[in-house]
Amino acid sequence: MLTDRIPRVSIAHLPTPLEPLPRLATLLNGPQIWVKRDDQTGLATGGNKARKLEFLVAQALAQGADTLITCGAAQSNHARQTAAAAARFGLSCVLVLRGAPPQQIQGNLLLDHVLGAEIVWAGDAPLADRMEEIAESLRAQGRRPYIVPYGGSNALGVCGYVAAMEELLAQSAREGLMFDHIVLASSSGGTQAGLSIAARARGYRGCILGISVDLQADPLRRRIADLAAETADLLGLRLSFTPEDFAVEDGYIGGGYGVVGDLEREAIRLLAQTEGLLLDPVYTGRAFGGLIDLIRRGAFSPQERVLFWHTGGVAGLFARSDIFEFHTLENSDREG
Ligand SMILES: *Cc1c(COP(=O)(O)O)cnc(C)c1O
Repeated sequence: MLTDRIPRVSIAHLPTPLEPLPRLATLLNGPQIWVKRDDQTGLATGGNKARKLEFLVAQALAQGADTLITCGAAQSNHARQTAAAAARFGLSCVLVLRGAPPQQIQGNLLLDHVLGAEIVWAGDAPLADRMEEIAESLRAQGRRPYIVPYGGSNALGVCGYVAAMEELLAQSAREGLMFDHIVLASSSGGTQAGLSIAARARGYRGCILGISVDLQADPLRRRIADLAAETADLLGLRLSFTPEDFAVEDGYIGGGYGVVGDLEREAIRLLAQTEGLLLDPVYTGRAFGGLIDLIRRGAFSPQERVLFWHTGGVAGLFARSDIFEFHTLENSDREG
C-alpha cells in the first residue's frame, strides 16, 4: 500500500461495499451505474471524513494532543465526524462553525452536541484565525490542542483517499469490474486529490470527475493539484501534478454552497425511490444530480460503467425537511 509508512488508527469500517444501481440504470437508459458506499464508513453515521481522520487522529495522538479543534459550516459532516473521532479516542473537541446559532439544533449539529463537542460560533470571521486563537488560549491553560484542517484536507488527510482508491482497485479486480468513470462531490479537494494520486501510481485508466459543490473549476483544480503535490511528496512518490490533470465540472453549483434547488431535490428523491439509497442535500445530492444530468445528455455510452463515490452526509438531510413538500393521502373514506 502506498500509505503503509504513515501512522494510522483504525476508525472506518473497511472495505466499504461496492454495489450496482440496476433500477436507476434501467430508468435512465444509460451506462451501468455502481456506487462505492463511503456513506457506510461508520463514525456517527458515516462519510468520507472517517478515512481522512484515521491519519489525522494518529498524528494528534502521537503529538500527545488532548483536544481536537476543527471548523466548518453549521451542518458540517466533517465537524460531526471529528467530534465522533475525538470521543472515540478520549479527546475533547472544539468545533468552530460559520455563522450564528440556528433556531433549531438538528442534523449534524444535533450530533455534534450529542457527541459532546464544544461549539464556537464564528460569525463571518475567518475560521482558520478563530481556530488558531482557540488553540492559543487552550495552550495558555496547559492543554494540548491539535488543529484538524478544514475538510480534513491536508497531505495527511488526503492519504485516506490514496488508500481508498487502492481499496477500490483491489475490490474491482476481485470482482472483475472495470470502471470507465468515477464521479464524486468535490469541495476542499482532498478526496479527489487522494483518488487521483493512487490512480496515477497504480495505472488506473478511467476518468475521475469531481463535481464541484462550491468553487469554480479553476480554483478547485489548483487546490486539488496543490494537495496532490504535497501528498505525493509526503508519500515519497515521484509524481508531479498540474491543475489540468484534474477533471472538474462546475456547472451544477446553482445558488452556491448548501442552496438546494431542483437538481438536488430530484436526485435525492430519485435515488431514494428507485434504490432506497439516501443522498445528502449539500454534496452527494448535487453531485448525483450532476451525474444524472450528464447521463441524460448522453455523456456516457451504454457500454460504459460509471462509479459514483458516495461520500456520505446523510445526517445533513435530517436538518432539511424544508426542501420537500409532503403529501399525505387524505382519509376520504371517513368523510362523506
Ligand atoms: C466533505 C464532503 C465532501 C467533499 O470532500 P472534499 O475532500 O472536501 O472535497 C463530499 N461529500 C460529503 C458528504 C462531505 O461531507
